[in-house]
Amino acid sequence: MIHPNIADISATRHILQRFKLRASKRLGQNFLTDAGVVRRIVDAAEISPGEEVLEIGPGIGTLTQGLLESGAKVTAVELDKKLPAVLAETLAGYENFKLVQGDILKVDLNELMPENFKVVANLPYYITTQILLTLLEKKLPIKKIVTMVQKEVAERMVANPGSKTYGAMTVAIQFRSEVKIAFDVSPESFLPRPEVTSSVVVCDVRESPIKVSDEDFFIKVVRASFGQRRKTILNSLAGAGFPREKILAAAKLSGISPGDRAENLSIENFATLSENLRQV
Ligand code: SAM
Repeated sequence: MIHPNIADISATRHILQRFKLRASKRLGQNFLTDAGVVRRIVDAAEISPGEEVLEIGPGIGTLTQGLLESGAKVTAVELDKKLPAVLAETLAGYENFKLVQGDILKVDLNELMPENFKVVANLPYYITTQILLTLLEKKLPIKKIVTMVQKEVAERMVANPGSKTYGAMTVAIQFRSEVKIAFDVSPESFLPRPEVTSSVVVCDVRESPIKVSDEDFFIKVVRASFGQRRKTILNSLAGAGFPREKILAAAKLSGISPGDRAENLSIENFATLSENLRQV
């Protein structure tokens, strides 16, 4: 069966009109209309035939079609109740497609995706960070996440210590994955056009993550350290309720100056600091 290409501005307009749909701002709906971008996202995901892929927010099936054409077995989770009827038509005839109507933050992913899988998505921008952190924190058998995000979020994801964009989210994401920006995407590649430039990021999930004995405590220390950006580690952690003498002792054991600021600490520094804070 030959399928018409969905990644095209006239095809997208036609599908939206036919189903009397309007892109929902509330659901972060900016549909891809650029076949070149779809191909580059699929290439970045390095899919082998038969590989399991979770797509978040398939929309009208644009990226999904590219994934299916590459031989992936796609399970897609879409919140918008109007879209299953659309997808049943746009992706009719593709065998390796399964749709779950629901909220990605609420579905039981352990049950849905029990085997190794990759995540590929053009994420709704209103909950990008929440989705990425949830995926990584749940310790699911994910190998790789390839996703479209706002360029500004991509820059925070790949930031290095000492830069303005380095923050708690950077540490939480890089702690579990190696992140790189694959390429930027201009607003013209979407319908409707978003107000900002986007970037496709690739997160290779670490097989052996940086060792900490209590990940929740580690994340708590990272969040607290960045709590008040211009404050020192000592004051930020004390402000979050850690006793001052414990912070001073843990910092000394970790070889960190308590007068340092969170944005200058590496992930390894945070790992050592949180281990020592638990033990002092
Ligand atoms: N993948 C399509 C594309 O590239 O054209 C659509 C991408 S659009 C940026 C984001 C999609 O995520 C929309 O279809 C939207 O309805 C869906 N969505 C929004 N919030 C969601 C949630 N919490 N769980 C699952 N899907 C969601």
